[in-house]
Amino acid sequence: MRLTNISLSRRGLLTGVMALGTATALAGCSAADTTTSAASTGSFAYLDNARAHRTRLALLGTAGGPMTWIAPHNGGDETRHGIATAVVVDGAIYLVDCGMGVAHQLRLANLGKEGDFHGYEGLRSVFLTHLHSDHTMDYFNIVLSGWHQGLPGSAPVEVYGPGDRGALPPISGTTDVPVVNPENPTPGTVDMTNYLTQAFATDINDRLRDSGKPGLDKLIRTHDIPIPSAVAARANDNQFPVMDPFLVMEDDRVRVTATLVDHGAVYPAFAFRFDTADGSIVFSGDTAPNPNLITLATGADVLVHEVIDADWVKALYGEPPYSQEEEGFIEHLLHSHTTIEQVGPVAEEAGVKTLVLSHLAPGNNPTERWQAAAAGFSGDLIVGEDLMEIGVGERTS
Ligand SMILES: [Zn+2]
Repeated sequence: MRLTNISLSRRGLLTGVMALGTATALAGCSAADTTTSAASTGSFAYLDNARAHRTRLALLGTAGGPMTWIAPHNGGDETRHGIATAVVVDGAIYLVDCGMGVAHQLRLANLGKEGDFHGYEGLRSVFLTHLHSDHTMDYFNIVLSGWHQGLPGSAPVEVYGPGDRGALPPISGTTDVPVVNPENPTPGTVDMTNYLTQAFATDINDRLRDSGKPGLDKLIRTHDIPIPSAVAARANDNQFPVMDPFLVMEDDRVRVTATLVDHGAVYPAFAFRFDTADGSIVFSGDTAPNPNLITLATGADVLVHEVIDADWVKALYGEPPYSQEEEGFIEHLLHSHTTIEQVGPVAEEAGVKTLVLSHLAPGNNPTERWQAAAAGFSGDLIVGEDLMEIGVGERTS
């Protein structure tokens, strides 16, 4: 095992590179403005000065779950923000998921072109993998803060996300469950955005009238992602049939395809693939191992994959017997996510070059625990950190 200490973040964190068998693992590298490091040669050249790459990946938040992780990790006082990741292609920003803190992190990361003042100017699109709150909690903050931080840009931000679920999920545990908003209990991305706009009507109307702000239709345009009818997918009984990936969006920089994945009761739950002139990046979304994700990720340069620590789940609840509610939650955690032991073989089967772990649950695990995911994977393993950037393809400057 090789262990090299390197120092490269603007916050002066010491970071460690570990080689585990044939798989290599890197963690603790906050590389928003990297300097030359020991990682600049060999497998990790793409981490050194990621901004020299036309296409790059920026991890804005790397925690799983809708809670704030306040325990320290990596021996410091860093915490992980909610799940949010950006693909940046020649200054254009494509955001995947909007967990807690995304607006703050987007501003901090300052991902756009040189000279962009607010950091939002280059934002082109937002993609939501599914509508669990840890992926959407600060979505509307992008709109509300964007109004004051560089939006609208040259065109509205295009938002793509799941449509209406179509039916309520089955009840696990107690049978006496109230229904929220019964006239529309499972709104999709378009309806969710309309409700959020209504909820903030006082502020929005004030700023439209008093501050002369442009209408929200200039800031965003929302789309429920249509699932090809031939797939015959449906809530509750056919949520992720074996299928080929389908096109979501294409512009002059990216081609985005999607597939349905297995996130327990959640429907639709998407994984996304971004193909650019420089390479390919796949986002697992939240999912248990399943063949649709393998198909989507086959041969990708980078797979950003969620991961959960099964030992943490077991420790949360102790020994059985469990209550009905506890059993339901344990079932959700272990059977609608991918464990540390499962994720390496998933990446290996897909034949990806680099596996990036994000959506880490729990967000306060020691880094060494996540590095165990290198088992069964022969490519490079990177344990994600907030504000880490990873270049894709060849350096272009
Ligand atoms: Zn989820």
